[in-house]
Amino acid sequence: MSEVENVVIIGSGPAGWTAAIYAARADLNPLVVVGVPKTVPSIVLPGGQLMLTTEVENYPGFPEGITGPDMMVAFQKQAQRFGTRIRNDDIVSCDFSKKPFALETDKGETILANAVIIATGATANWLGLENEMRLARSGGGVSACAVCDGALPAFRGQPLAVVGGGDSALEEASYLTKFGSKVYIIHRRDEFRASKAMQQRIFDAPNAEPLWNKTVIDVLGDDVITGVLLKDTVTGEESTLDVRGLFVAIGHTPTTGFLDGTGIELDDAKYIDLKTRSSKTNIDGVFAAGDVADSTYRQAISAAGMGCIAALDAEHYLSSDC
Ligand code: NAP
Repeated sequence: MSEVENVVIIGSGPAGWTAAIYAARADLNPLVVVGVPKTVPSIVLPGGQLMLTTEVENYPGFPEGITGPDMMVAFQKQAQRFGTRIRNDDIVSCDFSKKPFALETDKGETILANAVIIATGATANWLGLENEMRLARSGGGVSACAVCDGALPAFRGQPLAVVGGGDSALEEASYLTKFGSKVYIIHRRDEFRASKAMQQRIFDAPNAEPLWNKTVIDVLGDDVITGVLLKDTVTGEESTLDVRGLFVAIGHTPTTGFLDGTGIELDDAKYIDLKTRSSKTNIDGVFAAGDVADSTYRQAISAAGMGCIAALDAEHYLSSDC
């Protein structure tokens, strides 16, 4: 029988590392399962969405900004300084039906735990184009988060484009109108899915322009984006649009597939459904933090705050008669 861990944290973004810092400082000897890098069907890296973010300028404490990857290295080092241990595995399934809980890794090993914090985040959906992925990875002007990246100097006074027709796309576009000379909203149909209020905001913005019935079929540029190749979904006609930034806002997918069959309650969009302001899921001893349980705010700082809450909840749980 393998040793039973006190608390296992699944995920290594801001929520996971913050939970680890708090749990380690509370002498809970946490184990963080950081995940295995993948690029298909989406880019998923240990460290989470911040690994695809160039400059983070809105996290308090970094007046000059910090890159997303540097920030995650710093979070990890801080967690390790207090004794956090790390495993480079994916958790592929969980058994929460009895205690200790059993977590199965992608290598077929089982980790036993008295408490579990799920901080596996959500991944942005991408169009899946080779040049889109290349320029997103290299910080070449392709992003899935306007609030994270839109205010960077490279985008100021430049023509920008957002892909999507939902609330996220229009919210991102509205945010970008403050910085871009022009903001195109590229949508595959001839009407937006977003709320009427959101649509009105875009229609009222002098520098926003919807491009109806268009899909992006390629992203142009070597080191930085110079434009996109569009295809009209009605006529099939192709055209080029010059832009210096592309923001893909076609939804997010929470990383909850490995929870299938565990009884953890998810909402309609498959995010973990937290019933209260705490991090408690419907299963005693299983907690959740960060974007995996938050489809609304999705910020590094809000995820970190949720990680702190989850560690405090786990500590309280472990010190009671669990
Ligand atoms: P969403 O509502 O699912 O919208 C996704 C958009 O992307 C749709 O317009 C969809 O087009 C388009 N799309 C999907 N796949 C595509 C592809 N492969 N190529 C091109 N376009 C594609 O996602 P969301 O905007 O992220 O919103 C998620 C949820 O959060 C929604 O319930 C939304 O109301 C909510 N939300 C609310 C607020 C707010 O209230 N302030 C802000 C953000 C999000 P089609 O329309 O043709 O399907």
